[in-house]
Amino acid sequence: MEKWPIGVFTSVDAGLGVKLEVAHELGVPTIQLHAPAKETRTQENADAFLAKIGELGIQLTAVFGGFEGESYADIPTVSKTVGLVPPETRAARTQEMKKIADFAKMLKCDVVALHIGFVPHDTSDPLYNEVLDVTRDVCDHCKANGQNLHLETGQEAAEGLLQFISDVGRDNLFINFDPANMILYGTGEPIDALKKVGKYVRSIHCKDGTWAESPGKEWGAEVPLGEGDVGMENYLRTLDELGYTGPLTIEREIAAEPERQKAEIGHAINLLSELKQKIG
Ligand code: MG
Repeated sequence: MEKWPIGVFTSVDAGLGVKLEVAHELGVPTIQLHAPAKETRTQENADAFLAKIGELGIQLTAVFGGFEGESYADIPTVSKTVGLVPPETRAARTQEMKKIADFAKMLKCDVVALHIGFVPHDTSDPLYNEVLDVTRDVCDHCKANGQNLHLETGQEAAEGLLQFISDVGRDNLFINFDPANMILYGTGEPIDALKKVGKYVRSIHCKDGTWAESPGKEWGAEVPLGEGDVGMENYLRTLDELGYTGPLTIEREIAAEPERQKAEIGHAINLLSELKQKIG
């Protein structure tokens, strides 16, 4: 694969990504895929999807797990509903995450990713150990599939994430770095965070955002790439310094406005192409 192939976050029947056809129209060579709904995760659908992306010359680089009942309405709701942290749904979602990993294997994809949820910051909290256990369980399942598990960033500060990965103690646990999430959740200046966690970064999102007035208490705002507080040139220069050569996957979560979503992703592709020429 060439250095920094541009990518886009896509979805088939669940999630907020663009449709495969849009990825093709925009001419991107790689995609990440939001795991489709449970009923459609079949070998037959996997084979059809693989044939289709093969025809379009698109490479699948990661499959993202997501679960029914997750809500990103506000930060406290994320804490209550997202990922493998909430105790009420943990067992069922862990099983489902393994099924998603198996579906990714059908798609010949060796990267599975997710928002694990708000890991407690206090490592003496019993919940912290429970989340470690469940993460090890999913990592081991992925390992048996020949896959790595990537944690989407945002809900933890860099130090907390490093501590967590070290405590999980599995060699197939890495990071999907999303700089905008650090801003949206108010968990730290993204470039500083990237430098700290860099050795674990194996995939990334190109997304932008602006800080909330009270970071960590309320959401920042997601904005078109290049218009927020991340600083895209600095972001790519830092990735370059870290030796990251993988896909630059654009994520723009405004699926309710498909025309605007497509136009903004088009602009993002132009911006990233210019920066690639300048830096890459
Ligand atoms: Mg993201």
